[in-house]
Amino acid sequence: MLSSRLEKIKPSPTIAVTTKAKELRELGKDVIGLGAGEPDFDTHDNIKNAAIKAIKDEQTKYTAVDGIIQLKKAIQEKFARENKIDYDLTEITVGTGGKQVLYNAFMASLNKGDEVIIPSPYWVSYPDMVLLAEGTPVLVTCPLENNFKLTPTQLEQAITEETKWLILNSPSNPTGAAYSHEELENLANVIRKYKHVNVICDDIYEHITYDNFKFYTLASVAPDLRNRILTVNGVSKAYAMTGWRIGYAAGPKALIKAMAKIQSQSTSNPTSIAQYAALEALSGPQEYLQDRNKAFLERRNFVIEKLTEIKGLKPYQAEGAFYIFCSCEELIALQTPNGDTINNCTDFASYLLDEALVAVVPGVAFGMKNYFRVSYATSNENLKKACARINEACKKLT
Ligand code: PLP
Repeated sequence: MLSSRLEKIKPSPTIAVTTKAKELRELGKDVIGLGAGEPDFDTHDNIKNAAIKAIKDEQTKYTAVDGIIQLKKAIQEKFARENKIDYDLTEITVGTGGKQVLYNAFMASLNKGDEVIIPSPYWVSYPDMVLLAEGTPVLVTCPLENNFKLTPTQLEQAITEETKWLILNSPSNPTGAAYSHEELENLANVIRKYKHVNVICDDIYEHITYDNFKFYTLASVAPDLRNRILTVNGVSKAYAMTGWRIGYAAGPKALIKAMAKIQSQSTSNPTSIAQYAALEALSGPQEYLQDRNKAFLERRNFVIEKLTEIKGLKPYQAEGAFYIFCSCEELIALQTPNGDTINNCTDFASYLLDEALVAVVPGVAFGMKNYFRVSYATSNENLKKACARINEACKKLT
């Protein structure tokens, strides 16, 4: 009964970890989840009130397939205000989360065999989305030595005649690494040479950066390439609105129109109420984002400090997002108190879940072995407890 398409893909491993942690919790175990990629902050009241108002005002019917005009205008203003890029409303689309927007983009643009360059470690969904759209993911390993970032040389080596897209995710999930203006310029110099190569910039963590890092997106660094760039963003991470499911993108008109066509034959419009909430998020007060970043920064520094103290772990301190990508390479081949061997980072993550009741995601889920990802988008108390437990569990490895 099931299609062969299913054989190519796997369920999201991050969702799998979160589900397992939830199951253990339901069995009464005190599991601390550091697996989920969502801020623990509440959606701000002004946004909630806008949604309530939308319901009361009967904004509860179908809307334009790819978003109400007021929201598109707010997105247009966001790009002008924050990224200094002027988009026409016809160059903007809204979907049910950044995830659907990306999926639409691949479905609308990929033909069988088209290649998509994905710097690795990568967000878990990119390769599978590309496969579902019959494209070919081309994974390029970007090791710690390059701060987990794609270099111009690597990019040039990965480009073939089949290349349709390069995906740049800055700040990155899972590493938090973000590209500087100069690094983007250097990549743009390569992209300029290959006119058939387009770029998806996944900027969903744009607002979550630290240490005075200045965020830039490729379309603002290289405006001459804007007709080859799809800039994807959303309200999930910045405004703590993961459940509202609103993402958006700006890019070439023909692609934007094609993406709406795909959406018109699948989900139609994103929820009308959530669109009004997102409109308020983007056009209402922005100052509180800074306060939240301060809280994230404190947590990042705390977790980095604690993980650094643990023998065998090497956390990577990055410019943004709310993740720490941590090496556990030195613990591979050690034995657990039960006599099991830690053969890889998946074993290590399972060990942490069983022994320390802490849920993390193994690096292989993101295409890099011997690492694991910690999300610090949870309370200070949870982080304190989790780090102590990880420490204890690691000490028991011999
Ligand atoms: N892109 C990246 C890198 C992500 O980490 C996520 C969510 O985890 C998304 C896109 C999609 O977010 P949403 O669909 O909630 O907008």
